[in-house]
Formats: sequence, C-alpha cells, structure tokens
Amino acid sequence: MIAILSEEHGVLSIVVPCFNEEQVLEAFNDELHARLAELRQPYEVVFVDDGSLDGTLSLLRTFAARDPHVRYLSFSRNFGKEAGLLAGLRESTGDHVAIMDADLQHPPSLLRRMLDLQREGFDQVVARRSRDHDGPLRALLSRSYYQLVNHWVEVELVDGAGDFRLLSRRAVDALLELGERNRFSKGLFSWIGFRTVFFDYTDVPRGGGTSKWSYRHLLNYAVDGMVSFNSRPLRLAIHVGLPLTGLALLYAAWMVGAVLIGGVTAPGYVSLLVAVTGFGGMQIVLLGLVGEYVGRVYNECKQRPHYLVSERTPSGLARTPAQRAHFS
Ligand code: UDP
Ligand code: MG
Repeated sequence: MIAILSEEHGVLSIVVPCFNEEQVLEAFNDELHARLAELRQPYEVVFVDDGSLDGTLSLLRTFAARDPHVRYLSFSRNFGKEAGLLAGLRESTGDHVAIMDADLQHPPSLLRRMLDLQREGFDQVVARRSRDHDGPLRALLSRSYYQLVNHWVEVELVDGAGDFRLLSRRAVDALLELGERNRFSKGLFSWIGFRTVFFDYTDVPRGGGTSKWSYRHLLNYAVDGMVSFNSRPLRLAIHVGLPLTGLALLYAAWMVGAVLIGGVTAPGYVSLLVAVTGFGGMQIVLLGLVGEYVGRVYNECKQRPHYLVSERTPSGLARTPAQRAHFS
C-alpha cells in the first residue's frame, strides 16, 4: 500500500475540529478519504472533538478503528474552535497541514488545487470564500467589519479568508510558538506572514446540521479581532476625548460669558441632559474597551492550558504516518 504512494511531496495532515457534527461527519469523512486517495500522497487525518454532546465522538472512534490514517482527540468539554485548531496543529505530524471544517463547507475536492499551489513555493495557501450563501445583513456587516478592523489593527484580515488553508510545516511551527490564550486564528495566520497565496471558491451551504455561530457569537468574535492584536483601539479614547473636551471648554466659556453679560437666567435643561447622557454613554463604552484589555491580561496571567483532553485514539490504533510505514 505504502509502496504506491509518492513520498516526494511529503506527508499531508488534515486537521478537523468538530463540535456536534454527527449529522454530516460520516459524509465528510467519506468524501475526504475519497479525495485523499486520489492524491496518492501519504496522509493522516486528525479529528478534534470539541466536547460534542451528540454522537460525534463515537463516530470518530469508529473511523479510527477501521482506518489507521485517522487519529482523534476529544476535549473534556467545549473549548471553542480556536482551541480545537491548536490541538489539531499540535497533534499533526505532516510536512503540510490542511485545516478544514467538518461540515463540507470546505470542499475536500479543493485539496488538489491547494497542493499544486503549495508546490509553487507558498507556505500558506488560503481558500477565500464568496459570500453567496450569507444573508444580506450578515454579508453587509462582515464587509463593514473588515473595513473597520483593517483600519484599526496592525495585521491585515482578508474578508472571506478563514481557516480553510494549507500550511507548510514551518508555518505550523510558527503558529505553535504563539502561546497566547486568547487565540484569534485569522489574525495569527496573518501575523506569522510567510509567502501566502489566496484563491477564490464559491461558498457552499452546510452538508447537514446547523452552524454554531449566532449573531452574539459573531459580535464577540468581532471584538476579539479588534483587540487581539494591538492597543490601538485604546487610542480611540484619546481621539474622541480630546475634541470633546475642547468643545466642552468652548461651551463653558460661552456660558460664563453669557452669565456675565446677561446675568443668571437658568435655562439649559436640555443641553445639560444631552451632555450628561452623551458623555455617560461614551464613558461606559470606553470603559468596556479598557475592560476588554484588562480581561485579556487577566486570562493570560492565569496560564491555564488551552484545553483538556479526555480521550485520544487508543494506542493500539494510533499511527502517525512514520509509524505506519514502519509497521506495514
Ligand atoms: N466548531 C468547533 N467548536 C465550536 C464551534 C465550531 O470545533 O465550538 C467546528 C465545527 O464543528 C465546524 C467548524 O468549527 O467543523 C466551523 O463551525 P460552523 O460550521 O458552525 O461555523 P460556520 O461555518 O457557520 O462559520
Ligand atoms: Mg460551517
């Protein structure tokens, strides 16, 4: 079996984080293996079960039991996709590592194209999706967000370019060196740099099951993107605060002048109320912004692990590609 595989291009690892994906996982696994077999390259698939509550883990046990290419990890609870990605990357042993969602929204058929591009010398081959299947509101929000975030954040975030990408070993090693607790992968991928190429593909709907992203999650994700990379948003406080203080001083001088000339007439109820509520709201927003940074410092200080593993491929089944070559 190993003999017919071409070793010249190295081993390919596929990392798949899964959370409650029982409805689509079997179809994904079949499609992935069919495509990987066509590539005629040694490979391994690393599934990370992110504390699923459905039958995801038992499916992974079955996959690993019947196919030595498959390994899995299972978390003790849901730690989020970022933790799943990190665990998968740590577990991967390949010379190239592709990251894919389990819901068939990242079509395995694109792997061949990604490998072709990677052979041209790219460390990151990124599949950039169109927004054809997003609702108009979500598409509009996403677009505006990227414009805003690219203005405020040092690293460049590309709309539609997510986690579906093929990384070289040195890019993976670079990512693994970034030990921060609050992981915002989109930014980390951009931060490590290396030669990167983007190619477009048409968005496909989920193969089954439902998306784990609500608008509330998306808002949190958006805030993460803004504050994960630098303290530039904190300057917003200065940028907004200074002109407002100037305006307030001018207004105060005008009022004092009016009192000196015309005496006390005691109107100004509306302007007082507008100033108090306006400034109050702004202060709360800016306090929240400062709080985001403080919270992050607090999280980093605790130095907790990113995730806890409760189960992994039984040692009798687990085979890295190197071990498989040795055993066969
Ligand atoms: N996922 C995960 N942990 C989570 C949420 C999602 O591992 O807490 C996985 C999920 O199983 C899927 C991928 O991350 O493989 C993308 O999730 P989803 O399809 O829900 O996101 P969307 O495509 O809607 O952005
Ligand atoms: Mg999806």
